[in-house]
Amino acid sequence: MEVRSSFFPFPSVREGQREFMADVKHAVEAGGILVAHAPTGIGKTVAALVPALQYAIENEKTVFFLTSKRSQHKIAIDTLRLIKERNGLDITAVDITSKQSMCPRAVSIYREFYSLFNEFCRNEQRNKRCWYYMNHDADALARIRSEIMHVEELCEWCKTRQVCPYKAALEVGKSADVIVCDYNHLFSRDIASKMLEKIEKNLDELIVIVDEAHNLPDRIRNNLSSELRLKTISETARGIRNIDRELYNNLLQMEMILKKLVTNAAKAKRAEITVDRDFLIGELEKMLRRRIEVLSYKEFINAIRSRAEAIHASTSRSMPMSMSTGGESETRKERDILQSNLASISDFLDAWTTEEKCLRILSINDNPTLSLKLLDPSVLSEPVFRRAHASIMMSGTLYPVEMYADVLGATRVNGREIILREYKSPFPRENRLIAVTRGLTTKYTKRGEAMYRRIGEKIEAIAENVRGGMAVFFPSYALLKAILAYLSPQIRRRVMVERREMGKMERNRLYEQLRDEESGILFAVQGGSFSEGMDYESNTLKAIIVVGLPLSPPTLEVKATQGYYTGKYGADKGRLYGYLYPAITKVLQAAGRGIRSEHDRCIIVLMDYRFAQFPYKRCLPPDFDMIFTDRVEDLCRSFFNSGSETN
Ligand code: SF4
Repeated sequence: MEVRSSFFPFPSVREGQREFMADVKHAVEAGGILVAHAPTGIGKTVAALVPALQYAIENEKTVFFLTSKRSQHKIAIDTLRLIKERNGLDITAVDITSKQSMCPRAVSIYREFYSLFNEFCRNEQRNKRCWYYMNHDADALARIRSEIMHVEELCEWCKTRQVCPYKAALEVGKSADVIVCDYNHLFSRDIASKMLEKIEKNLDELIVIVDEAHNLPDRIRNNLSSELRLKTISETARGIRNIDRELYNNLLQMEMILKKLVTNAAKAKRAEITVDRDFLIGELEKMLRRRIEVLSYKEFINAIRSRAEAIHASTSRSMPMSMSTGGESETRKERDILQSNLASISDFLDAWTTEEKCLRILSINDNPTLSLKLLDPSVLSEPVFRRAHASIMMSGTLYPVEMYADVLGATRVNGREIILREYKSPFPRENRLIAVTRGLTTKYTKRGEAMYRRIGEKIEAIAENVRGGMAVFFPSYALLKAILAYLSPQIRRRVMVERREMGKMERNRLYEQLRDEESGILFAVQGGSFSEGMDYESNTLKAIIVVGLPLSPPTLEVKATQGYYTGKYGADKGRLYGYLYPAITKVLQAAGRGIRSEHDRCIIVLMDYRFAQFPYKRCLPPDFDMIFTDRVEDLCRSFFNSGSETN
């Protein structure tokens, strides 16, 4: 099969894009797995969709385009519209996000807790109380089938027609050529099996495209991980005391079980201890056997969920939001917190029962926390790659591809061709300058006032020579604060600081301020929203400083992950996958915020001499041409002078 130019909606194919398209075409034809590091600018969405869609149409397959971001949903849908219009194709594509985010009846607590929402939705369907669900509207479906809509448009349309948007989208999904959806639709067992059943497809009928695939390992880990604070149990017990005496007593006993563990850890002078899965289940079962009405562990979880649901129902009936007075809204707030705490406890207890290889830890801090962390994301991804017709994993920062292929289990799938590719950036190389500063580091043994002062002075020297916006990314909020204190008042006036507790709206406002000011300096953390999730407009950042290496302290989790991969792939890969690459990935994400188009010019300063040393240097991509210098401000000056005509 040739990649027909008629399917490609643009006049010309970019550098790197042709190669990527040819690899996608080969992977879908061979039923293989392509793992692709495709830097920003290659135009990977269209390059993946064109050959996959063409093969799907000719071979009765469905393309599953999975992405974790709303902005990527939009890009995929816009691209599909273009392919359809330019070629006069009769294709069906449907855009789906989570059920609770599409539901016209979901209140905020349901958007936060899938388990509660699911319970509500199931009851409404079972008891025939959801009019949207019961309403069948062939005309509404016909429009979704014939037009390619963004999910917001689809939901709006369904709302006006009084039909359930999620149900309608899945109905159209049965005959769709492309389904744009979230990772969870294939990489969460419960949701995936329901989704596939509803659209009447088997995995071998799907061509899976995972966009921004560097996010997939953590998304799977987070989905199967959970945590519960001791404070949440205590607060919930207090809140439920006058509502449900039996549950109150049970929560007090749960609190005692945890407190005993905290005392044991404190006696052993340990900041964290591992907790056995069966120990906690056994202790809780013992407690449940002492109840007036004996319950199993599962029944206990259901009882907590039902109580949360009952609180929601009674609050909505007695105090509709629009009508509540001052005192009532206070009570309503307390009820909302209680309901949300009950949902957290039941979700945690449910997650705790998993048989997957997890690390279970009790950490002793100001607020002791019991947590459950999935070690190996491939338990969910490997079966998908094994059974799907073909799979494409792509991202602008899927480096090194071999690690992602290993971590997601692609390299353990037998009988499939695995194609690992790293494409070159199509942007002019001279538009990016990478420097490593001599003499500066955030290495633990070298930290202190003298080092913070020198780092602050260097940031200032760079800021004086950069023409335009700048971002400085730190390994932690504590270091950010410590170094900020050493900046002069005139530079500090230009600084905008990310705070840990910022909500989405506040972050967006901060971003807009940075974008609109001529020479703003953003101080943010590596691994945070500003260094990973945020889409910067072209030309926003002229310089990026990555201060230090965000290596994790040797916690039980880091040691367990390293040990796990050592057992699976040997000591070298164990250290790389469990310790070094997670830090390097954060650095690459932060460093990649500057160049978003071929017209952008950006200087990247890696402010820690360890970047130029073994083993960190070998973890960086081969096209990271670094200059090791102690006069980075001079480099900045000449970089911006030499590019003045293009600025
Ligand atoms: S059936 Fe649809 S509209 Fe009704 S509650 Fe469930 S998701 Fe919402």
